[in-house]
Amino acid sequence: MKSLLPKHILKFYTKESELNVIFFKMLGTAGIAISLIGAIQSLITAGDIIGCMINLIAAIASVILMVFVDRTGKYVVGYLITSFGIFMALFGMLFLQMGGLYGSMPYFFSFGILFTLLMYQGWLLYVMELIHVVFYVGICYFSYIHPEHVKMFDTPGAQFSDQIAGIILSSLGIGTIFLMYLREYRKQQKLAQESSNAKSILLANISHEIRTPINMLLGMNEMILREADNSQIIEYSRNVETAGRQLLFMINQFLDLSRIDMGKEEVFEENFDLKELIDTLKVYYKKEADVKGLDFVLDTDRELPRYLLGDSRKLNQILMNLLSNAIKYTKEGVIVFSIQRKEESKDQIRLRFEVSDTGLGIKGEDQKKIFGSFERSDIVRNRGIEGTGLGLAISGNLAKLMGSEIKLKSKYGEGSVFWFEIDLKKGTDIGIAATVNETFIAPDAKVLAVDDNSMNLTVLKSLLKRTLIKLSTAQSAQESYELCEKNDYDLIFMDYMMPDIDGLEAMQELRKMDRIREKNVPIIVLTADATPEKRKTFLESGFDDYLLKPIDISLMENVLMKHLPRHLVTVVDQQDQLEVPEEVLDNFKKTLREYDISFEMAMKHLSGDINQFVRIASFFINSADGNMAHVKDLLEDREYEQAALIIHSLKGNSGNVGAEDLYYNARRLEKRVKDGDVAYVDAASELFFMEWKRAKEGLRVFLKAFEQIRPSLRAVEEEPKVKRDKGVLTGQLLEAVSNGNQAPALKLIDELEELYGESEKI
Ligand code: ADP
Repeated sequence: MKSLLPKHILKFYTKESELNVIFFKMLGTAGIAISLIGAIQSLITAGDIIGCMINLIAAIASVILMVFVDRTGKYVVGYLITSFGIFMALFGMLFLQMGGLYGSMPYFFSFGILFTLLMYQGWLLYVMELIHVVFYVGICYFSYIHPEHVKMFDTPGAQFSDQIAGIILSSLGIGTIFLMYLREYRKQQKLAQESSNAKSILLANISHEIRTPINMLLGMNEMILREADNSQIIEYSRNVETAGRQLLFMINQFLDLSRIDMGKEEVFEENFDLKELIDTLKVYYKKEADVKGLDFVLDTDRELPRYLLGDSRKLNQILMNLLSNAIKYTKEGVIVFSIQRKEESKDQIRLRFEVSDTGLGIKGEDQKKIFGSFERSDIVRNRGIEGTGLGLAISGNLAKLMGSEIKLKSKYGEGSVFWFEIDLKKGTDIGIAATVNETFIAPDAKVLAVDDNSMNLTVLKSLLKRTLIKLSTAQSAQESYELCEKNDYDLIFMDYMMPDIDGLEAMQELRKMDRIREKNVPIIVLTADATPEKRKTFLESGFDDYLLKPIDISLMENVLMKHLPRHLVTVVDQQDQLEVPEEVLDNFKKTLREYDISFEMAMKHLSGDINQFVRIASFFINSADGNMAHVKDLLEDREYEQAALIIHSLKGNSGNVGAEDLYYNARRLEKRVKDGDVAYVDAASELFFMEWKRAKEGLRVFLKAFEQIRPSLRAVEEEPKVKRDKGVLTGQLLEAVSNGNQAPALKLIDELEELYGESEKI
């Protein structure tokens, strides 16, 4: 074939990218072939020299026309010449020459019609279509009333073969054209799908890759915020946090969108507290509205069920977007957030969520557009209002996934109403969420954190400091296996993305170890991947829970409280740091020194947080008697292994409260107990218990003194807190709420309230 078709001839057809032009050339070629066949046929079957000549001329004319169009690029001229010259003049002549209505030409008229449909655009299409139809009908009518002008076939055989040729050629031709267009359409569709997928994957990958370093930056920045005492540095650091959070929010939007585009977003059904969801939104957005001087009205149906089954995260995300837009695009007036029951059956309810504002409104032509990605209306007027134009695209798609649709009614300049209706199943009581002001200490808990990134481990260590948990770290899965062979842990944090062996494999390997299996040690995955189906797979693959990076301290504490063995956790109230006058501190120091307790050392451990000292001291006192009796029994029964465990934890706690003598005593005793040195243990334990009692007594005296002075102490006016930027907190809150993390969201709202209270005073 190749040798038959020289390259430049082949190129003549393949160099074009536009289907119409290729089609034009192919049609021309087919025309040439048909004309040549026609010429031969006229000559052989009918001995018709004139017919043969006409066909030959048509073939030559077609070649000239094709070359002309190819050289000049004047395609429409080519099409017009083809229409008038071939499909009308030539076909007309052939029609009259070859049997009129009884020949094959009427089949070919359909070519003319098809050609017109494919080649022309706009008004020319209609005009040319009309001309062709009128011409073909006209010439048929003409042949009908003037049969004398039509050259009939000489024999029935000639007519038969002409008809058959007509049927075959026209059906082949039309079929080929149809196939070509269909193929092209499919190719384009595939291309579009592929490029859209490629775009989504690229977007998802980039976004994911960006998340990791941002998380790292925010984590390190959090440490600067905690450690720094220079107000200038704190301010810089806050700015870093604001920018970082904003960036993270945008990246999350990109991720959300690309997940939706790739069809990866799934609807999850979980029990949730509708009241809590609405309240959280209300508290936050009412505040936001207040700041802009807007009224905020919550209008809820009186008889809303409290617990529902559905994807509360998606619902939340949509409502957050609608509410924040309403506030963002409204200068004065009122925002109304309404939730109404529509239909209700025994197990199901249809709710209507509506957010209306008295803001800028949206022009009619923009109302559809704004649900598209990156679309923003009224760019000029909305200049200065931050946004990506992705919120409504995401919300619209999320609503669709949940079988709903966001509707909009808006009058430009007067305001907008966005609403959607959604069917939800009724749920069951899910109990009380963690309270805000609670935190805990767990000085006896041993936790292992596995992460290849030492910086992450440092961050984790500093976040855990307050809980007094004993943290061991491993920088690889291998190292964690070794540690777990030798030590008992109460909980393990496992990074997901690690080189060599990833978190999943490491978790599975650890689960095989006796120590882990017997105690059923919870393993919590640390991940930067917040997507719901990832969370689901984590839980399904055997992790007990997950913790998002950057780690939110409240979330981490929640996870720890949930998974650490009950008896290791002491829940305490979270209080403000107290400002203790120098002379009071000196008194404490003196009192405690009498009991061999170094208050300075303890305070150093606890970053000067006297409340924390009080907590640990209470813990120490409360657990002392029981533990002491227990250790005594164990030592008497020579159950040294058990005894060593308690002594070991006492050693840590005494270090925390600054009871140095007891600490060293415990250390020595622990070693001898482990060695099974009965003689030493028997001789030394007396002194050890004495030290223990002494430390306990010292702490008791301190606590008493502290309780007396406590009412006169003022909370420290924490500089960073007052300075906390609204933007930062808002960003954090948005993230917390959109991730469905109620406890930290509430905490942030408290902080925001405090902050706004502060600015009102000023
Ligand atoms: P963003 O707010 O980030 O630009 P959205 O997708 O949430 O993106 O909204 C798209 C556009 O729709 C906005 O840019 C704004 O022009 C318009 N819009 C959305 N909500 C409102 C509203 N309540 N009032 C007026 N205009 C709105």
